[in-house]
Amino acid sequence: MEDIIKYFRYAMLFPVILSFFIAIIFIPFLYNGYYGITYGNNGYSLNFGFVWPTPNFTRITSPFGRRNSPTKGASSYHQGIDIAASQGSNVLAIMSGTVIFAGWSGSGGYMIIIEHDKNFDSRYCHLGERLLVTKGQKVYAGQIIATVGPKYVSNGKLNGATTGVHLHLGIRKDGEFINPLQFYNL
Ligand SMILES: [Zn+2]
Repeated sequence: MEDIIKYFRYAMLFPVILSFFIAIIFIPFLYNGYYGITYGNNGYSLNFGFVWPTPNFTRITSPFGRRNSPTKGASSYHQGIDIAASQGSNVLAIMSGTVIFAGWSGSGGYMIIIEHDKNFDSRYCHLGERLLVTKGQKVYAGQIIATVGPKYVSNGKLNGATTGVHLHLGIRKDGEFINPLQFYNL
């Protein structure tokens, strides 16, 4: 009788150990995103990672931080990154959340802001006029929300403070802009 109890005790340990190893095998997949980009383990538990907003376009034309203002109205402290992407190409939500702004913004041109969590949002600037989401809408990570806009919008105005076609991605945490690249391994 005692032997049987002993046997079952060890038998029960087996699935526990097995599931532990299965879990270890799957951990890398959780941190692997779309388009072969591996997300940094950044400590945010909002999602498994951040989706790169411009599929097939990864060249940064202007990094985050201090810079010489490239054009009138553009900040000399660059509050995001500029990604060289062709006009009309898709812009994806980097993470799930709720659209809190979608429209004309002035210096950001046509812009979308998505709130991912309290005090954590992302913005996409200089977009095409036909935005694919509206304020209040819930979006998922990787959802196409807009296209990369032209330098000039239909009324002839500059699409925000921009020197050319690109996507500006800004991430704000606790009211301050932080470097989006820290969430990606490009
Ligand atoms: Zn920019």
